[in-house]
Amino acid sequence: MGFVFGLVAGSVLSFYSLTFPLQVVELMGDLFLRSLRMIVVPLIFPTLALSIADLGDVARLSRLSGLTIGYYLVTNAMAVTTGLLLVNLFQPGVGMPLGEETAPQLPDFRLSDLIRRTIPNNPFQAVAEGETLAIIFLSLLFGAGLLAAGEKGKPVRSLLTSGLHVTVVIVHWLIALAPIGVFSLSAHLSAEFGLGVLIPLSRYVFVVVLGLAVHGLIFLPLSLYLITKTSPFVYLRSFFPALLTAFTTSSSSATLPVTLDCAETAGVSRDARSFVLPLGATINMDGTALYEAVAAVFVAQAYGIPLSLPQQLLVFLTANMAAIGAAGIPAGGLVTMPLVYQAVGIPLAGLTLILPVDRFLDMFRTTVNVEGDIIGCQIVAQLYHRDEGTSPPPNPPQGKIQPDR
Ligand code: ASP
Repeated sequence: MGFVFGLVAGSVLSFYSLTFPLQVVELMGDLFLRSLRMIVVPLIFPTLALSIADLGDVARLSRLSGLTIGYYLVTNAMAVTTGLLLVNLFQPGVGMPLGEETAPQLPDFRLSDLIRRTIPNNPFQAVAEGETLAIIFLSLLFGAGLLAAGEKGKPVRSLLTSGLHVTVVIVHWLIALAPIGVFSLSAHLSAEFGLGVLIPLSRYVFVVVLGLAVHGLIFLPLSLYLITKTSPFVYLRSFFPALLTAFTTSSSSATLPVTLDCAETAGVSRDARSFVLPLGATINMDGTALYEAVAAVFVAQAYGIPLSLPQQLLVFLTANMAAIGAAGIPAGGLVTMPLVYQAVGIPLAGLTLILPVDRFLDMFRTTVNVEGDIIGCQIVAQLYHRDEGTSPPPNPPQGKIQPDR
């Protein structure tokens, strides 16, 4: 509701050029986004650390992480394959007029730097600078330390548990404000870019959105149903607030507090949700992977660069890596795109071609990224508990949820 009102209000305000209300709406949207991002570190750290510590032993940890990483890799590969098939079938770049492109200024992205940054020199600096991969690494390591310390780690564990309770209370407050945030963000979006920018690139936009729809509306729900026998409609309905937040914020990380909250309400087992969701918000990006592959082949087509099968295979590999490396923030995928271009020799200036519609496509790919995490936590939960021979905890009573530690 807030989303639709926002779109209408944004169009009306920009039509009448009402600058002051537009500024107010922009500020409100920005405040909402900032408050979601603000809560991410205090939420990720204890959630991940306790999820490891509570597993009880290393064998269970390796089973859970094996299942999770396996799920991420398989679904990412499915998404890239879908993107590559569609972009080769529809050839949206063929006949695209090329202007005088100059490469946009993007920070230099190297995979080795990304791997290096996973282990921070200074943990406090990593937290202060919001280095998500480093924070995840620290949380997992700290959790493993807590697990190994046993009895002696108990006071720290209680402290983390209590800190998490407090954070979850604040998350509930933020979620109560979500309709206003969603209204403001969507009003700002519709005011900022009219749909006119989409026309010259409509074939490219069509292929990306079609690919995301095939993956998000068919493959992911089907995998959920086939593996867990859970109804995708019922399950995804409980995550509607998270999907809408992903769509309007274009940020998997900012959506994480909402996703975790929905997963708790939906009764997903705690082991799985507190491990799969924070990790997934950072490294599992099906939508981004699909988009990176389509964008690369699209630009190659526009430049008339034929891509052989081995080169397409390289696009497949690098698009997967670029998606893993992308930060869960708006345009995070754009920043890692040069990895794909450089690997197959596509001019970086080609990025200019896809820039005008990037913000628009970001909303769709982020929604699929978050959906991948949501479906992943149910699949991993079921497989993990099946292996363990235990049953996942029953659904909590509906209504206001309580932090469950
Ligand atoms: N905005 C995306 C996300 O947060 C990343 C991307 O730009 O593809 O999931």
